[in-house]
This record gives sequence, structure tokens and C-alpha cells, in this order.
Amino acid sequence: EAKNTGRDMALFYSAETDQRVQARQTMEQHLRRALERGEMSLHFQPRVAARGGRLLGVEALLRWNSAALGPVPPAEFIPLAEETGLIRALGAWVLEQALLQWAQWQALPVPEGHVVHPLHGIAVSVNLSAAELADDELVPAIEATLRRTRVPAQHLELEITESQLMDNAQAAQSQLAALKALGLQLAIDDFGTGYSSLAYLKRFSIDRLKIDKSFVHDMLHDPADMEITRAIIALGHTLGLRIVAEGVENLATAQVLGALNCEELQGYHFSRPLPAAELQAWAERHAQRGAGGASA
Ligand code: C2E
Ligand code: MG
Ligand code: MG
Ligand code: MG
Repeated sequence: EAKNTGRDMALFYSAETDQRVQARQTMEQHLRRALERGEMSLHFQPRVAARGGRLLGVEALLRWNSAALGPVPPAEFIPLAEETGLIRALGAWVLEQALLQWAQWQALPVPEGHVVHPLHGIAVSVNLSAAELADDELVPAIEATLRRTRVPAQHLELEITESQLMDNAQAAQSQLAALKALGLQLAIDDFGTGYSSLAYLKRFSIDRLKIDKSFVHDMLHDPADMEITRAIIALGHTLGLRIVAEGVENLATAQVLGALNCEELQGYHFSRPLPAAELQAWAERHAQRGAGGASA
């Protein structure tokens, strides 16, 4: 039947489209095998306090180094994983690895001259797709992983993008409440790029809004982006939420966001996403510097 389908499709698809379909199928075949072949890993990006600069948490970001295709960016393989259902296995793996890594960090000795290790007591954030949120097994699975890894739920934060959340707002509402009941934290990612219903935003049990990096990136040069950023911060505060700016790439942007009362900052200015060992070294250097203000 595959052959027939192929012939029929050829009537409708241009050669270029056909190539893209094939590339996609090839990627899907490799993605199916990626976990068992050990091609997946996590990077971690710090999130710091705008005031004081203290390390508050890290976001786990999935990396795929395919033996056949080389490094594939998440923007390419995550949507494919979502469409094919592979995201459930990948998401479960990411959660488990992130929590195991967190537990390892808690066991690190306190560096000389310090009272705590900078990785002690931080939060770890994991991204969640709409396909995972729609899964009835999600909440019990997360609960089981928390128990198995012995990570107290309050140290885990789940991020879901505004557009994925609002596409499924009604169903999402009860799932978010059930997740919240586990004691973990919830953030809306890429905020400002979707079409939020304010009614839902009020009812969702969320803790943080993450301002999309497209606004943060140009806010010093684009007055509209600056005003959007200001408005998101005001809206978030009205709803009692903490605000994170993502995509902070320079000191000036960090300082302006601090002046706008944005509580938390994430971006290349502080650090790119790093493998666990490098993140640990970054955290120790950052603490040595006294985490001075909004600077890196
Ligand atoms: P996201 O969750 O919004 O993650 C932030 C993205 O912005 C990351 O891209 C990060 O590397 C990038 N970034 C951080 N700071 C800066 C900056 O200062 N400037 C710029 N230009 N970019 C910055 P990445 O790692 O390529 O991930 C892209 C997206 O893929 C993520 O966006 C998330 O939606 C998705 N993703 C990544 N890992 C996972 C995962 O484990 N599960 C799911 N469901 N999605 C994931
Ligand atoms: Mg995220
Ligand atoms: Mg984002
Ligand atoms: Mg995103």
C-alpha cells in the first residue's frame, strides 16, 4: 500500500515537496531509534534573579546528535516528535534525566568559603508538549517519576507554550490543576506569541509567564517590543504571576528588564544551554563572582 500511496501523492506533490516528505520520513526513522542508540542528551540553561543575580533554576533542553544526520535542532525534531507521538517517550526520558541530574547536584559538596552549593535547592524546568498534556497518563507518570527519583515536587517546573495551551484550553485546565496538586510549578512559555484568553489565564493554576524572546531580543531598539514587554509584565503581576524574560543577550537589556520589575532573566548574556558538567562549573564561577546584579 505504501507504493500506491506514493504514486497517488506524486500527482499532487512537486518534486521539491516530495523530497521534503522523504527527508521527513528519514528523520522519523532515525528519531524512532535515537533514545535506544544513546543519541539524546540534555543541556541546561540558567535562570537568574534580575535583582542580585542569584541562580534560581535551570531549564532542561533536549539535544539530538544523530549518528546518521548529525546534530538536529529541537525546532526540527520536536514538531516531528509531536506529530508522530514519539514525544511521549522522549518527554518521559527528559523528565527522568532532568530529575536524576537535579538529585546528583543536590549531593555536591559545598565549595570552600561558601554556605551552600549554588545548585542546591534550585528548580529544574522541563518543557511539555500539548500532546503530553492531552495524555491521561501524564499526571500519574510524573508523580511516579518524582517518587522514583526522590525529587520534592516543588523543585520541578513544567513549561508549556502559550499557543499549545490555548489551542486546548478547556482540556488543559483540569490537567494543569491536577499537575499543580502534585506540588510542582507551572510556567507559560513563549508568552505573547499566542492568543491568550484572559479568562483562561486567570483560571489556569500557573506560577510564571515567560516573555517570548522575540520581544526581548529587540526591545531596546523597537518601541513596540518594549511596550509589549511592559504590558506582559503588568498583566502578569495583575494575575499574581512571576515574570521571566527569555532571550536576554546583553547587560543593557537585563538592566532595563530589572527596572521594569521583571523578576527573572534567562539568555545568552548569562549562559547558553550547557551540558551538566559545564553548567555546574558555570554555577560555581557565577557564585564566586557574588552573582553581582544583573550582570553575567
Ligand atoms: P523554549 O522552551 O522556549 O527554549 C528556549 C530556546 O531559546 C532554546 O532553544 C534556547 O537555546 C534558546 N535561547 C536561550 N537563550 C537565548 C538567547 O539569549 N537568544 C536566543 N536567540 N536564543 C536563546 P532550543 O534549545 O533550540 O529549543 C527550542 C525549543 O524546542 C524550546 O523552546 C522548546 O519549545 C523545544 N524543546 C526543547 N527541548 C524540549 C523538550 O525536552 N521537550 C519539549 N516538548 N520541547 C522541547
Ligand atoms: Mg521552555
Ligand atoms: Mg520559550
Ligand atoms: Mg519555544
